[in-house]
Amino acid sequence: MEKVLFTKEMKDAGYTILIPDMCHIHFKIIREIMQNYGYNAEILYNTGQGVVDEGLKHVHNDTCYPALLVIGQMIDALKSGKYDIHKVALLLPQTGGGCRASNYISLLRKALEAMGWGFIPIISLNFSGLEKSPGFKLSLPFIRQLLAAVVYGDLLMLLDNQVKPYEVNRGDSAACVNMWVERLGRTFRENKGLSGKERRAALKAIVDSFARIPMKKEKKIKVGIVGEIYVKYAPLGNNNLEDFLYEQGCEVMLGGLIDFALYCTDTPIDTINIYGGSGLLRDGYRLVESYLSSLKDEMIEAVKRNSDFTPPSSFRHLKSKADGVIGTGCKMGEGWLLTAEIMELVELGYSNVICAQPFGCLPNHIVGKGMIRKIKGLVPSANIVPIDYDPGATRVNQENRIKLMLAVAAEELDGAPEARAESAAAEPEVRSEELGVN
Ligand code: SF4
Repeated sequence: MEKVLFTKEMKDAGYTILIPDMCHIHFKIIREIMQNYGYNAEILYNTGQGVVDEGLKHVHNDTCYPALLVIGQMIDALKSGKYDIHKVALLLPQTGGGCRASNYISLLRKALEAMGWGFIPIISLNFSGLEKSPGFKLSLPFIRQLLAAVVYGDLLMLLDNQVKPYEVNRGDSAACVNMWVERLGRTFRENKGLSGKERRAALKAIVDSFARIPMKKEKKIKVGIVGEIYVKYAPLGNNNLEDFLYEQGCEVMLGGLIDFALYCTDTPIDTINIYGGSGLLRDGYRLVESYLSSLKDEMIEAVKRNSDFTPPSSFRHLKSKADGVIGTGCKMGEGWLLTAEIMELVELGYSNVICAQPFGCLPNHIVGKGMIRKIKGLVPSANIVPIDYDPGATRVNQENRIKLMLAVAAEELDGAPEARAESAAAEPEVRSEELGVN
C-alpha cells in the first residue's frame, strides 16, 4: 500500500486536517495553535451508531476499541459530505511504544483503500520520527506552544471538574473555560504566554477566575477516573462518562494529559537503565522530562494558592505511588501510570475510582482491572469499579455498574464505613479469562 504523504503544497492549498476529538478542552486550544501555524485543523465531534458501524466495517472486531472508534469517526466524517475528500488530510497520534496505538495508521490506510480513498494523506503526530509528513513540521516554538496547551488544558479541566458540581449559577464554569480557551488562543496568536513568567501569570489568572465563581458548600461523592488514554478522556469512547457522573451529583478528578507525556518520556529512561542503551539518548529524555515536570509543577503551584481546590501531585510523587504495587518496567499501554494514578486518586480523597477499559486492550486490563485486588489489599478504602467499553456493551449496563459503586460511596459519605467492607466482600474476583481479552 503506497503511503500518501501530506506535502507543503497541500498545506498551502488549505487542506482541512481532521483530528478525532479526545480531550475536549485541550484539543480546542491545540486547534487554535495549529491554525496559527497555518494548518486548517478541525476537531471531529461526530458520534452515534454510524461511527461504531463504520469502525466495525473497516477494523477487525478483535482490534482494540479506540482504534475502531477513531477510524470509524474519520470514515463517518468523510462520508458525511461535509468535506471535499480531495482536499482533506487525517491526523492521528502515534506513541511509538510497543502498543497497538503505533499501528492505527496502517489500519486507517487499509480502511481508506477499501473506500477508494487511498489518495487521502495521513499525518502522524509523533515525537519519535516514526512517520514523516513533509507538510507538517513540528518546530521548537510549535512544540512549546503545544506543551503549554497541554498544561493549560489540564488546569482548565481540573478546575472545571472541581467547580461545576458546586456552582451557584449553572454554566458559570463552562463559560469560564470557554473564555480562557479563546483568550489563550489569542495569546498564542500573538506569540505570547511561553516564557516561564508569562505562563505562571496566566496559570495564576486562570485559578483566580475560577475562584471568583460563586460555589455552594456541599458534600459530593468524589470520583476519580483512570483508564486507557482514549476511553478515559473521550466522551465518544466512554459514553459521556464525566457528564453522567456530574448528573449523578459527583465531583470528578482525572489525571492530566501532561502525566501521559511524562510517562512517555520517563519509560525510555527506565528502559535504558534496566536494559542498557545510549546514554546520550537517556540524557535527552531526562532533559525533556525535567522540562515537562517543571510545567506541571508550575500548574500545581498555581492551584495551591487557593485552598478550595485540590492540586494533583508532582510526577515524582505520582511515580512513587507505584512502589510496592507494580514494577515501573510495566510499560505497555498506560503501564504503571494507570496503577499509580489509582493510588494517587485515593490519596487525594477520590477513593471511588472508575477504571475505564476498552475492549481488546490487554495491557490496561492487566495494569487496571488486574491490580484492583492488590490495591484493595493495600488501601482497603479504595472503591474501584472496572468498566469495559466495546461496541456491544450497552450504556445502561455500564451506568448501572457505576450506580452500584456510587451507592456504596453514598453510604460512606453518610458515615457508614461498614458498607465498604460488605462491598469488598461482594466484589467478584478478576477471572483470568476476563484478563485475556486481547
Ligand atoms: S493501550 Fe490498549 S487500546 Fe491503546 S493501543 Fe494498546 S491495546 Fe489498544
